[in-house]
Amino acid sequence: MNNPGVVASDAKVRRNGKGGKNRSNVFPLDVGILHPDHPVMVWSKHPSCKGFVQKFRGTSFRYIQKSHAFLTCRKLLSLHVMADMHCKVCGNVEQQRFQQVYAFPTFEVWSCTVCNFHFVPPAFTELVSYDHYKTKAEQETVRQGNDWLKIQRHKSRLRKINRLQHGGKLFDLGVGWGHFLAAARDMGYNVSGVELSEYQWEYATRDLGLPVEHMNFFDLPASPGSTDVITMWDVLEHIEDAGAVLDRIHDMLCKNGLLVLQVPQIDSYISKKTRDKWSMLSHTHVNYFSPSTITRLLQDHGFEVLKIRSSIELKLLLMYVIYPRKRKKQGTADSISSDDRQHYFNKVTNRPKWILRIAVFLHDVIYDLLSLLNIGEEMVVYARKKA
Ligand SMILES: [Zn+2]
Repeated sequence: MNNPGVVASDAKVRRNGKGGKNRSNVFPLDVGILHPDHPVMVWSKHPSCKGFVQKFRGTSFRYIQKSHAFLTCRKLLSLHVMADMHCKVCGNVEQQRFQQVYAFPTFEVWSCTVCNFHFVPPAFTELVSYDHYKTKAEQETVRQGNDWLKIQRHKSRLRKINRLQHGGKLFDLGVGWGHFLAAARDMGYNVSGVELSEYQWEYATRDLGLPVEHMNFFDLPASPGSTDVITMWDVLEHIEDAGAVLDRIHDMLCKNGLLVLQVPQIDSYISKKTRDKWSMLSHTHVNYFSPSTITRLLQDHGFEVLKIRSSIELKLLLMYVIYPRKRKKQGTADSISSDDRQHYFNKVTNRPKWILRIAVFLHDVIYDLLSLLNIGEEMVVYARKKA
């Protein structure tokens, strides 16, 4: 690989008498980096360096190269971004056929101008550990919430799946807390699943009694051609090697097996309206599909797309849009944790069952209406395994 380095060790910078000050304010790494505003090597607090530095966590010292010391970190960053650039949908690797779409302090979104696939280049992605994706505190808050309501919310999804595949073996990749899988079990599917996050797996198995494995999907011992339906809710946007996951799913599915997945949609109504303020833009979301790019990827991995429908998670709207607005008015919007969001959801839904039944009915009507009008921020894709 091209050596992009100007990452200096702690010892080197100190000997040169540069930096060393305010060490507690720099990134949690023992590295220095050129700052765009300074001609000499200093400890950088510049946010644009952060994604770059994160990439080199653990390997930074191998890339010390003094000869590059005249470059600014932004230039280095762009060199490094371009060196790793490739399109996982159409295979494009020509550097001039990529363009930057959004730049944030810690990551950027780029697009391939050949197929219009949007993505976060590998240079910005840090290894996210999904083992501790959720905390013990969140688990406790979820436990205080209303499981019945959360399960009902998923039944409208299952009624749509049921029209294409009635009953049979259903496998959920990335079970989360398990409410979707519990709804599938209620509706007569023979269910199983996999979840990496320890506390979510614990909840799905112990609280909801679901047969869920706690391991990497690729390590799962599953016999080929054994599954009728595989579902994947908000998972594929997190996975760098999306094609490998689709190949494994293809292998697990029976003849004409059904794959149903939901992903954020880059050309959705809400994405277009909110642009760089879109709440789905995150460094943990590395893939941003449109109907055309997800169709192409699925076709290339042995699937026929049956239909694609606009989707919006009204629960997330409550937790990620309405709740933050409320906190903003109180002047405490900076410190919202996932646990706070769960607490808010519990508070709002702590109502008598007859009210919740009406709420579920209205939820389903509003969801379907918005989907019909193409007002959403995600899409649900229904695809069949090609023979
Ligand atoms: Zn492409």
